[in-house]
Order: sequence, then C-alpha cells, then structure tokens
Amino acid sequence: MSLSDKAIKEFQEIYKKKYGKDISPEEARDAGERLVGLFEVLFDSHVAELRLKEKLKDHPKGFSLMDDEIYNCGICHTQIRDEELWYDKWGKKCLACQDAVNKKIIPGKICYNNKDWYAVWELDSCFKLKAAAARKLIRQGVLKARIVPKSGFEVILLKENTDVLPPKEILKYVSVPVEGKEGAFSMTPWYEIYDPKKVLGSYKIWPYLTAFNQK
Ligand SMILES: [Zn+2]
Repeated sequence: MSLSDKAIKEFQEIYKKKYGKDISPEEARDAGERLVGLFEVLFDSHVAELRLKEKLKDHPKGFSLMDDEIYNCGICHTQIRDEELWYDKWGKKCLACQDAVNKKIIPGKICYNNKDWYAVWELDSCFKLKAAAARKLIRQGVLKARIVPKSGFEVILLKENTDVLPPKEILKYVSVPVEGKEGAFSMTPWYEIYDPKKVLGSYKIWPYLTAFNQK
C-alpha cells in the first residue's frame, strides 16, 4: 500500500495540529502506511464477519466455515478448523459447545462475552483458586456450573452464583505507574493493590480462598 504525496502532506498537517510537532515526509509516509495497513486488517475482518452474517440469512441454523483457517471457539477457546467449527448468530464454536448451546445447557450469548460467566481457568487468575480446588467446589455444590456434555467444559454463570462470586469488573488488572520510569505502567493483579478481604469478604467463596485468607 503506497500513499500519494497529497495524503502524506495531509498526514503531516494533521500530525502537526494534533501533536504540535513537525515530521518529515519520510516519517509521515512510514507512519501513514502502517496506519493504513492496520486499518486494512480491521476492515477485512469486519467485511468477513458481515459476509458470514449475510450467509446466515440463507442458513439460519448456521454452517461450517470450510476455509482451512484455524479459529478459537468463542466459549471454550479450543482451536477449531473446517468441519470442527460451527458458526451461528452467536459466533464460531467447537461442536461440543455448539451441541450444548443447541440443547440449551449453556446460553449462546456467552460466546465472545466473558462478563456473564467464569471459566475454571479464570478462577485461578482472579482468586488464585487452582483448577482442582475449583472443581472440588463444583462437586460440593458451593459453585454452580453448567457442564458441556461432550467436552466436560465448565461454565460458571454469574447469575447462578450471585452471592458466591463477585461481578468480574472489580477483579480486573490494575494499571500502576512504574516507579522511576516516567510514563510507564505495569498491569498488576487487583489483589496486590486492594485488600482481598475487603473486596471478597462478603461473598460465599471467601472461606475457600486459602491463598488470601491464610496469611
Ligand atoms: Zn468450545
């Protein structure tokens, strides 16, 4: 992708207005072409998604994408390709998750939407709760999980665990300035910034979070 001299000149003017700095035509060309490249990638994937949506009109129950590309299941993140993949109005899924959605064991809307539910691996990153401990809590009924029959993948819906697990917003990584490095930030787990007991003490998961409450 090559930019015209007029486009380069415009880019220089916009840059000057926005950042108050002059850049050379070479710098403007370099930055502009990278920007256009990025835009093309975003645009292409947007167009691909629109094409799939259009095809859904003729195949309302969905279809496989036989394009030899590797994708991730929008629910369990397993890598899938061609006939291992089913696309419907919720997005791309592995056949096991698709089967569970079709049978209404798990809701389709959790596909590409991780705010309404926890996967077991997230309990580790959010609460330092290892998978074995999390699965024990599921067996004991402390955590309610929906199980995908064909894969065993656990979906822990927030609405079924309201007084047990907190909403995920409060457990996000926190951006903290790095000492001695101006303008640098590091992403720090929430529990290194806030007191875990204050954040989680009122939730029923708290007594089981041994990484936090046995200090
Ligand atoms: Zn899946």
